[in-house]
Amino acid sequence: MDMKYHIWTEGCQMNVADSQRVASALERIGYQATRQAEEADVIVLNTCVVRQSAEDKAYGRLHSLRPLKQKNPRLVINLMGCLVGVRSYERLKQRFPFVDVFSPPSDPRPLVAYLAQGESQALEQAETAQRYALMDEESPALLPEQERGQLVSAFVPVVLGCSHACTYCIIPYRRGVERSRPAETILAEARLLVAQGVKEITFLGQIVDRYGKDIPGGADLATLLRQTHEIEGLERIRFLTSHPNWMNEALLEAVAALPKVMPHIEVPIQAGDDAVLENMKRGYTADDYRRLIAKIRGRLNSGFPGVSIATDIIVGFPGETEAQFQRTYDLLEELRLDVAHLARYSPRPGTVAQRRMEDDVPAEVKLERFRRLETLQEQIAGEINAGYLGQTVPVLFEAKVKERWKGRTETNKLVFVESTEDLQGQVRMVHIHWTGPWSMLGML
Ligand code: SAH
Repeated sequence: MDMKYHIWTEGCQMNVADSQRVASALERIGYQATRQAEEADVIVLNTCVVRQSAEDKAYGRLHSLRPLKQKNPRLVINLMGCLVGVRSYERLKQRFPFVDVFSPPSDPRPLVAYLAQGESQALEQAETAQRYALMDEESPALLPEQERGQLVSAFVPVVLGCSHACTYCIIPYRRGVERSRPAETILAEARLLVAQGVKEITFLGQIVDRYGKDIPGGADLATLLRQTHEIEGLERIRFLTSHPNWMNEALLEAVAALPKVMPHIEVPIQAGDDAVLENMKRGYTADDYRRLIAKIRGRLNSGFPGVSIATDIIVGFPGETEAQFQRTYDLLEELRLDVAHLARYSPRPGTVAQRRMEDDVPAEVKLERFRRLETLQEQIAGEINAGYLGQTVPVLFEAKVKERWKGRTETNKLVFVESTEDLQGQVRMVHIHWTGPWSMLGML
């Protein structure tokens, strides 16, 4: 029997990692991947709800599956991820009766149980799935077949869930409380990935630098990095996302001391105005963030290219005035970070901001603020990247895209190189001869 699965993944890196795990679990019970949803026996929708636009996309996709299910009643549809969440999904079940299985984020077990034993088992699994990293019981990170020997850079979740509760954010409600995975599990997974050809591992967590804080006597992120660094054949290690309050000296020390740990820090500021930060319950001020950036640069900026820093910003948070927005703009201009992921505030059901604060910044004002920051950041990134012109830097190549090889510098800059050689998975020195705000061109 030739059973096929198809996975559609939306959203963050965590979802990419989760989908990989589902794929691998399905392959272990005899399914094969297909790119065509129409010919699949099992379809998994791994969803994101961080903003309304993502949620709308998930619903759109879900509706598009209804005719497939009507044509083929034996088709199994699995709705997974943050649209489902770790709590009750009764309402979703009523609204989408053609969905067969509901899975919380990071957990392939309800689907596997359903395929093996039917619905009652799957329900039971889903109900017990909320507290622990049950995904570890189901499967180690054996890559799905098409990625084995192909995937250069892999994501490894190290902290699941989040207990911080920023007022705008739905993630803690949908991914559950913070739980760190045991260091031994993570290390075993990293070794297994490297044995399958992976050269770079990115550790993931909503607040990744809180790794281990929920395990009494557990290793912290700096220790985990040191242990991972020992793995032979692994070339590069990254981690994201950091929270300004948890990026400590020990972590920076580890990044500085360990050559495989890349000099790239993702640390969102979200807003540059103290009152807005307070309303977001971020737990720091603009000045604290300024000092943190100075500390990161002081610790990691030795020689070219030094450390690169990425941030996230939300514009149009409830009550954000023009003057408050301007402070975000000015801070971004002052700090000159390498990357800024920008978002327009989107009220999320159940969050403190949605329940207690009016979404009072008009859509066109949000868009206008978004564009102003975008223009500023494009200029800054263009200027920073121009510093690479004429330099020769190591690049890890990931894949061939059309005629060019795509890779990344240690600082996570995207580089394209024309070459007839097979560069997949190799670190090579590249001479940069063109730069733009989002990518660079170079020659071996
Ligand atoms: N813990 C992660 C959060 C991931 S969500 C982190 O700190 O990065 C990624 C980004 O989405 C957040 O940093 C934030 O900038 C944005 N975001 C989260 N909730 C949002 C909302 N309700 N509206 C708009 N953007 C939001």
